[in-house]
Amino acid sequence: PSVNDYLRHHIRTVPDWPAPGVQFRDITPLLQNPKVFRVLIDAFVHRYMDRRPDVVAGLDARGFILGAVVAYELNVGFVPIRKKGKLPFTTVEETYELEYGSATVELHTDAVRAGDRVLLIDDLIATGGTMMAGKKLLEKLGAVVIEGAAIVDLPELGGSARLRASGLPLFTLVDYA
Ligand code: 5GP
Repeated sequence: PSVNDYLRHHIRTVPDWPAPGVQFRDITPLLQNPKVFRVLIDAFVHRYMDRRPDVVAGLDARGFILGAVVAYELNVGFVPIRKKGKLPFTTVEETYELEYGSATVELHTDAVRAGDRVLLIDDLIATGGTMMAGKKLLEKLGAVVIEGAAIVDLPELGGSARLRASGLPLFTLVDYA
C-alpha cells in the first residue's frame, strides 16, 4: 500500500468523542507502533530535508510530539506554541473562535527571529483555526511560515481551503471526506 494508505490504516476513529456526533481521529496508534511511527516521521522529513526550515513550530499538544522529532531529524530547533498560561517568558498571543467560546495560544517573543523560515506542525486540521492562529503568532514576530503540515486533513470543514486561501501552503498525509 502507499505510505498514505498505510498511515490511514493505523488511525483509529472513535465515534461520539468528545461529544455526540463527533468522529474523533485518534493518531495515538501511529506513535505506539515503532515501525509506523518511523514511516510517519520519515514522510515529513523527506518532504523538508531538501528545503529545510530554520525552525519547526509545534501546536499544543500533539504538534509537540511530531514537531520535536521532525525538528531533531532536520537538525533545526523546535519551538512550542502553547495554550495560554503555560509559557513563562514574555509572549505574543492570539485569540480565535471555537464552536463554543474561544481559545488563546501563545509564543515566546524570542522563539523566532524576523525573517526566519518556519515549518508549522499539528496533528490535524479541522476548521483551521488553530493553525491560522499559529501562523499569525509567527508572523507577529516577523517570521515566514513556509508550510503548514499535519497528519490529517478534514477538508469538508473548510479549514485547509481557508488556510491555503490565506497564502499558507499545506502538506497533509491522510484526508477524511
Ligand atoms: P481546528 O482548529 O482546525 O478546528 O482543530 C484542530 C485542532 O483540534 C488540532 O490542534 C487538533 O489536535 C484538534 N482536533 C480536532 N479534532 C480532532 C480529531 O478528530 N482528532 C485529533 N487527533 N485532533 C483533533
